[in-house]
Amino acid sequence: SNPLDKDQMQGLRGIREFLKVRTSYDVLPLSFRLVILDNDLLIRKSLNILIQNGIVSAPLWDSRNGTFAGLLTSTDYINVIQYYCQFPHEIDQVDQFRLSSLRDIERAIGVLPLETVSVHPMRPLYEACRRMLKTRARRIPLIDTDDETGRETVVSVITQYRILKFIAVNNEQHTMLLKKPVREIGLGTYIDLATANMNSSVLDVIYLMVKYNISAVPIVDKDNRVMNLFEAVDVIPCIKGGAYDELTATVGDALSQRAEDFGGIYTCSEEDRLDSIFETIRKSRVHRLIVVDDDSRLKGIISLSDILKYVLLYGEEEDDLQEY
Ligand code: ADP
Repeated sequence: SNPLDKDQMQGLRGIREFLKVRTSYDVLPLSFRLVILDNDLLIRKSLNILIQNGIVSAPLWDSRNGTFAGLLTSTDYINVIQYYCQFPHEIDQVDQFRLSSLRDIERAIGVLPLETVSVHPMRPLYEACRRMLKTRARRIPLIDTDDETGRETVVSVITQYRILKFIAVNNEQHTMLLKKPVREIGLGTYIDLATANMNSSVLDVIYLMVKYNISAVPIVDKDNRVMNLFEAVDVIPCIKGGAYDELTATVGDALSQRAEDFGGIYTCSEEDRLDSIFETIRKSRVHRLIVVDDDSRLKGIISLSDILKYVLLYGEEEDDLQEY
């Protein structure tokens, strides 16, 4: 058999063992800041707070009941936009919506509420990963409960990126064994790709993200060359200040207003291997990789969930998967 196969499997097993002996708590930096938003806050105001703090998501807190009330993410804003599109005459009301109305908005536009999963920070990291994959959550809140009072505390939120970076930084002896080309291991999506061009409207792209249930759309030219990438989080600055009517603007205009600290987009080729992808993750804040050919033509897309899924599940027995 191919010696690369043996190494690859050994690397994957090593990483899985590592995730089983570390906890979600281990992933957290020594000191960090956590912005928690009160559920009573106006949605309109929550946008500014996220932008001012340079974040794209925050846990919500129900201060009346003293409980965690879910995670605010760009999906919620996309839902508000869909609501606005379906009920354009209610713009005044949209302006008055509070974060606590997000569940009503989901119901009104007929989307299923995202399952709010959380994990205890001291549980194995492997468990957090499995829950993320099962629910398709891109981030998961760490919730602790006080034994005596039963009160909940939101300790932090961990993302797929943080977990993969934690692996990349601490588990090089295993990631270096992952030497099979991404195309050969079927990592990522290569058919039926959703794309748009610079002249598409922001609304068109949002519609694609909803339809395909994805968080980014590559922007290509007429020869299918990758020009840019529109991400779900790019929606946030677009609707700042309640500017829903500006969603008819083009993707090109919207992307030219990106914050200065925008990290850029990351590409790879079909011949690249997971060892080098982990190297990229170790060095930079990657959210997905666009697979291109030598002429920058779009071939595929590898999301962090594709990587996490492969690393955790490839070659596992069905029976072992039922447990989580
Ligand atoms: P994540 O869950 O990591 O945020 P996405 O939601 O972007 O990632 O991707 C979910 C799935 O859809 C992945 O399997 C990914 O390969 C695929 N995918 C991502 N973007 C596109 C796209 N533009 N067209 C088709 N499939 C995509």
